[in-house]
Amino acid sequence: MELVTAPWDHSALRDINVQFEHASPREILLWGQETFGDDLIMATGFGPSGIVLMDFVSKIQPQIPILYLDTDLLFPETHTLRRELEERLGLSFQRHATELSLKAQEATYGPKLWKRNPDQCCLMRKVRPLQEALKNKRAWITGIRRDHSKARAHIQVVEWDDPYGVVKLNPLAYWGNDEVWSYIQLNDLPYNILHDEGYPSIGCVPCTRSVPPGESMRAGRWRGREKLECGIHKPVGSKHSEAAE
Ligand code: SF4
Repeated sequence: MELVTAPWDHSALRDINVQFEHASPREILLWGQETFGDDLIMATGFGPSGIVLMDFVSKIQPQIPILYLDTDLLFPETHTLRRELEERLGLSFQRHATELSLKAQEATYGPKLWKRNPDQCCLMRKVRPLQEALKNKRAWITGIRRDHSKARAHIQVVEWDDPYGVVKLNPLAYWGNDEVWSYIQLNDLPYNILHDEGYPSIGCVPCTRSVPPGESMRAGRWRGREKLECGIHKPVGSKHSEAAE
């Protein structure tokens, strides 16, 4: 495939996405590495899609760094899974986190900020650390998919991620939930045991609930609120708001 370099105008992205609509994650990852070299990084929240992508990365480009955002509020099961993935796939993860401890957050913003102003809490504990991690990169890889939610229904395989000023690769954009879980089972990959207890999507402890059968995959995130996203995956063309700080 022809190499495309910045500037990433709309027509260049459109052409790439037409070519990638039926491409395998392997092809997309190889293109990413060829195009961005050391300026490419993957981010994961250790969900099922991320596990599939990490398996691809470990087999074809284990040198791609993989970052995770440690909010200090992740489930212990998520940390266990990270250690299992390190051992099983030979990956080493980069931890990125705010310097603001939970104690300092409480002292400054009051107790349980996630209940009163989850956007501000996510901005400080997730979005800002990710911005810092992507500062010297040209592209990042994510596991988001079109079937995750309405808000993600129109994502492209390759996008210009304006809030971070980098290209975003979503190699599993067109995969479905069954396809992801078949891949995990077929390759005997570890996954978060909370998925077997009714948690289809897992984030921070205070903002994640189990979901009754039949509800959407992300229905347990910030349950009872209008909030659907932590803010790290903004729609194309939007900017991060400073108002929540
Ligand atoms: S998911 Fe909840 S606890 Fe985690 S950073 Fe966002 S608001 Fe805070």
